[in-house]
Amino acid sequence: MNPRRSSKPIQIGNVTIGGGAPVVVQSMTKTDTRDARATVRQIKELEDCGCELVRVAVPDAEAARAIVDIKKNISIPLIADIHFDYRLALEALVSGVDGLRLNPGNISEPDKVKKVVLAAKERGVPIRIGLNAGSLPKTDSPNLNVAERMVEAALEQVRLLESLDFDLIKVSLKAFDVPTTIEAYRDIAGKIPYPLHIGITEAGTPRTGVIRSTVGIGTLLWLGIGDTIRVSLTAHPREEVVAAYEILKSLDLRQHGPVLVSCPTCGRAEVDVVQLAKEVERRLLKIDRPVKVAVMGCVVNGPGEAKDADVGIACGKGKGVIFKKGKKVATVEEKDFLTALMKEVEEL
Ligand code: SF4
Repeated sequence: MNPRRSSKPIQIGNVTIGGGAPVVVQSMTKTDTRDARATVRQIKELEDCGCELVRVAVPDAEAARAIVDIKKNISIPLIADIHFDYRLALEALVSGVDGLRLNPGNISEPDKVKKVVLAAKERGVPIRIGLNAGSLPKTDSPNLNVAERMVEAALEQVRLLESLDFDLIKVSLKAFDVPTTIEAYRDIAGKIPYPLHIGITEAGTPRTGVIRSTVGIGTLLWLGIGDTIRVSLTAHPREEVVAAYEILKSLDLRQHGPVLVSCPTCGRAEVDVVQLAKEVERRLLKIDRPVKVAVMGCVVNGPGEAKDADVGIACGKGKGVIFKKGKKVATVEEKDFLTALMKEVEEL
């Protein structure tokens, strides 16, 4: 894996992005932001599963004003997502937002951007220049491909912010197409010193969207690119946070909650590994600690993987061997597999 690209750190509320800080997990609410109660409820759900930054859509002034109430009732920093109307960014700043996302595809007039930048600077609030392949600004260079156009538009906006002596900048260049996204981020990574927010936009439902996001985000992280991530899914945002952590855990970039190792099961298994693994996974949801648990169907890879985990079971016919920190601690009857395994996990 490539070393992480170095970037200039920025502070969004109490969360550091870039500068070698751990890759930050963020998500976006799917409630009507004007309904502060519903939005707070959803943000609380996100906080409970480890979300570290949350973004809300700000489609009108009422939504911008609702940020005041939302902020009072949540613990993680809040970012306002602004499109079309720069005045909503000004209103969100007055409401105490911790970060802004501006889309150069629909707010690009320098005098309007300038007003937002000066107000953000006064409050020390960072701005994400958030390009999206679906809403690119017009270009004078028709031969550029989508990735090149995203980079061109982002650089133009970066230069504008820098000309106003503003450097609390974060950039994102998202597309649905994974190669396009990777090309764009690789290109801009060497051209600016600012942290990068990465993701695959409109990735789809969890079934396909998690895979698409994992390929895109995972590849970029493996290249050392990315300071904060969002997995965009057509689902409850909790699913986005869970997927984000799984990506980070897969690359050993973050530890968060349990890791379940389970074999795919095959004709050698003499127990219902699928059912056992599902039930173990369900029970592990209640555990916050980083613990590695293995559920293995037979003696082929079972003892090896089970020994490698903090707690593991290698199943056999009617009986299973439980390992804890590499040592065999018990042999249990099939009916006791689940309770015996979870007892060891809880006692860790
Ligand atoms: S551990 Fe055993 S049951 Fe599981 S997939 Fe491997 S060989 Fe099959």
